[in-house]
This record gives sequence, C-alpha cells and structure tokens, in this order.
Amino acid sequence: MILRGTTAVRGKASGRLLILKSRRRKRRRKLTFDQLKEEVKRYRDYLHRISLDVGGGSIFRVYEAILQDPQLWEKVQSLMEGGERDAFKAFYRVIEAYSGELSRSGHEKFENLGLELRMWLRDFDNFVRGQHSDIIENSAGSIIVADELNIMDVFRIIKYGVAGVVLEKGSLTSHPILMLKSRGIPTLIKVKGAISSARRYRYAFLNATDGFVEFSRKPFEVQVEERPQINAILDRGGRLRTADGQEVVLQINVDIPEELEDFRGLDVGLFRTEYLYLMGIVSRDDQEYIYRKLSELVYPNLLTIRLFDLGGEKVPLGMDIPPHVRGIRYLLEYNRKLLMDQIEAINRASVRGNIRVLIPMVSTVEEVMEVRRILRADIPLGIMIETPASALITDRFKKHVNFFSVGTNDLSQYVMAIDRRVSDYRFHPSIFRLVWYSFDKLRYQRERYSVCGDLAANRMGLLALLSLGIRVFSVPPAYIPEAAQLIAKVDGETLNRVFRHIMISYSERDVEEVLSSVLREKGMEKTSSEISG
Ligand code: PEP
Ligand code: MG
Repeated sequence: MILRGTTAVRGKASGRLLILKSRRRKRRRKLTFDQLKEEVKRYRDYLHRISLDVGGGSIFRVYEAILQDPQLWEKVQSLMEGGERDAFKAFYRVIEAYSGELSRSGHEKFENLGLELRMWLRDFDNFVRGQHSDIIENSAGSIIVADELNIMDVFRIIKYGVAGVVLEKGSLTSHPILMLKSRGIPTLIKVKGAISSARRYRYAFLNATDGFVEFSRKPFEVQVEERPQINAILDRGGRLRTADGQEVVLQINVDIPEELEDFRGLDVGLFRTEYLYLMGIVSRDDQEYIYRKLSELVYPNLLTIRLFDLGGEKVPLGMDIPPHVRGIRYLLEYNRKLLMDQIEAINRASVRGNIRVLIPMVSTVEEVMEVRRILRADIPLGIMIETPASALITDRFKKHVNFFSVGTNDLSQYVMAIDRRVSDYRFHPSIFRLVWYSFDKLRYQRERYSVCGDLAANRMGLLALLSLGIRVFSVPPAYIPEAAQLIAKVDGETLNRVFRHIMISYSERDVEEVLSSVLREKGMEKTSSEISG
C-alpha cells in the first residue's frame, strides 16, 4: 500500500511501524502529598511494565532507585511545610535540583544522567496528565505514524533514534518539523489516511525524497543512503564560493547542543535556547555551564545565542504565557527575571569572545536598548528580523545592533496572516519584497545581514535569497551539503535574472516558476517540499 505526501525532510528509511495516539495537552490538577505518592506508584508500575517489554533498560532502574530514596520525599515534604501547596511542584523542584547538580558535575556520565532526569520529569508530568508518549527506548529504527507531533515527541524521536516520520498533518515551518530537519530525519507530512492505513500493516518504507511511504506486512530490504561528506565545507569554515567566485557564508542552526559535535568548524548562526528551557535547563547556573561549554566547543567560531523565544508553540511545563506575546516582548513584559538570569548567564559564560546574542521577535528599538543596557558591552548584539515591524524599520536599528538575522518562518506567518503551525506560504512576492526592503538598508555592509529562517534551507528559497544579494545563511546542519551544492552552481548573471523576475512577479506561482526553471537549468530538480504545502 502506497500513500503520497509532502516532503518535509528528504531521505529514505525503513523499519517497524509505530503509530502514535493523538493527544491534546490537558491541564494538570494540583496534587496533595498522598496523591503525588499514588501517582508515583502508578508511574513506577507503568515503568516496570515497559522495562519488561523492552528487556529492562538501565535508565529505568536509575529512576526506580531515585523514586525510592527516602531523602527525596523528605525534601518534598519540607518544601510543602515551607508553603508550597502543590506536591507535584515541590517534587519537580527537588528533582530539578538533583539534575542540576548532576549536569554541572563535570563528568560526562553524570551530565547525561542530569539531562535524562529532566526529560523523565517531563515524561512523568505527561503521565500524570494521562498523555504519556509512546516513543520509548525500543523505538529505535522505527517509522512513526501520527497526526502531528509536539516538541517533546521530537526530543524523544531524536534521543531514541527513530528512523523516519509520517504525519497526517504538519507544516513545513512548525518547530517540531524544523527540529526533525536539523537532524535530517526523513519526514513526510500531509499524508491523508496514514494512521488508518498503517494499522493494517507492520512495516514501512519511507521515501521522503520522492514523497511517498509504502506499508507492508513484511520487512523491507533497503540500502542505507550514504551521508554526504562535508569535511571540505568544515575545513573552509563554511566560506564557500559561487561559480563566479562570490563568497557565501554558511552557518548552522542548532536546536539541541549535541547537534554541534559533527559540525565543528562552522559558526553557529542561531542557537534556539528555548529548547534548553523546554528540557528543563532553566537556572542561571545551568545556563552558564552550557553556554560556556558550547562556546569552548565551537571556538574560534561564533556561537550566536538567541534569547529565550518562548510563547506560541514553545510553552514550558507549568508556565502561563498569554497568547498575544512571544520572544522579547514576553521576557520584558511578563518575565524580566528570566531575561535577567539569561543575560547574566551569558555575561559570565562569555570568556572566549566568540559569543553573540540575538533577540527574538523584536519590533521596537526600545526593546533592543533594554537588552543592551544589561548585556556586557563587549558582547555583540543582533536582532531577528521576523516581525514586519522590524523589517520596515531596519535602518532604525542599525546603530544599536551589530548584526541582523531574518526569521522567514515568522516573517512569512505575519506577512501572510497565516498560522505557521498548520500552513505554509513561502514564495509569495511580498515576502521577498519585504526582505529586500530591509536588506537594502545594509547592502553596503552585507556581512552584517543574514537569514536563519527555513526559507534558506530550501533550494528554491536559497536561490531567491541569494538573488536579493544576501550572502550569509544559517541553516539546519543536515541541509549544509545541499546548500553548498547550489551555491557552487549559481553566478551573478543567473542571480540578476532571478531577482528581476521575483520583483515583477504577481503571485507565488510566478516566483516558483522562475526558481524551478533555474534549478532545472542547473540540473537540480525541485522536490515537493519546495512547493508550498
Ligand atoms: C524564524 O522565525 O524564521 C526563526 C528562525 O525562528 P523560529 O523558527 O525559531 O521561530
Ligand atoms: Mg521565529
């Protein structure tokens, strides 16, 4: 049985099918001490069942040991005596403190355990809400079929080595999909009837490159694709040349720190710190530790730390974020303490001189000035251009910031009045006109201007952005080889032609036509992911 969909992340994979139940996040009720103990007991039984299923994972035994530790319960009780009314919150704080100590221990084994504990805590929270994820240790190598995914699911997919993903819904620039793209996990979205069809089979062959998935009752024999070599790109520090010798710089977007390991040698153009927050790395000390470590790891390359972009899809456990605020606006208006802690952690971690700070969702100059006041003066500061407001007044920011980075995912959402979680609009001429308008203010200092949104991680989008004159791009690591391939094939004459066409286009289709005809000319066929979904 074969079903077609839209390519979100190219690649092929085969494996056992794992169908996820659909879940809506529910509110958790306050727990008394006894209720908490009862929930923990249920959870331990549940872990026990799973650990029998998967042959007894060592990590489950660690959780068990922690849950049986009388000191843990004494600490929870003393927090409650000190005024905490929700036993779950008290429990949460105690476990967080444990994991913080482990993460900062300086021993790799304990650091990993610290992270594990935080993920597990979120798992337990989901369990209490009746929404436990089905992605577990024995999901390695399987193909997941679901209606949609949330960010925690994707953490688990990465952690447990899931081979591929097939979704009934999904959009190309939603955060869960961008995380899968960073990791290069083959993903097909908008596959109608995937769940009901998959139920009748046990195995899947996913060919996300060509936009289809095949289900079967027997395992598939598939040759594993070789990963393209990127050493030459790393050796050049991501500084590449077009066919006629113009320099283009490729940097990487990092969602989860481990992604960095294979890409040392490149600048990090965007580090989305809110994922750290979602994994439970919240305290100033934990943050300082991680920023310092990452800065060491990428040195002498740049580490661009984006301040927490919370809100929208990225709302951590137990946090109430009004739906109308996100990014810097949330930090300034609702959670200054979080902002101060993050900046303080960055100020302290910045010893090598390679850390830069990027502010998300900026719309006014005052927001920048507030951050500038508390950030150490020698740390370069930049802003995301991802609200139409910031794109339209780019010139007003010039003397206050060191660099700019266009977030095309949000910029497109706000220009086109769509919700990026459910739909995409990528090649509308208005988006390019607006980016051009903004970039034009820096055209003589173009090394200060870059794009880190997903439009650059798509051959048609990258071609269009190159045609505007932009020469610095930050893309998901897995997209680096493809971007390099395109850059090597284009030249000034082609880019001018593309630029003229885009500027006189009436519709998204007009833009797509010129971009795909140039790709064909260069021997790079477009894929379904390059057509807006
Ligand atoms: C963007 O909006 O394009 C961007 C890079 O930020 P995020 O995807 O994290 O919102
Ligand atoms: Mg954004």
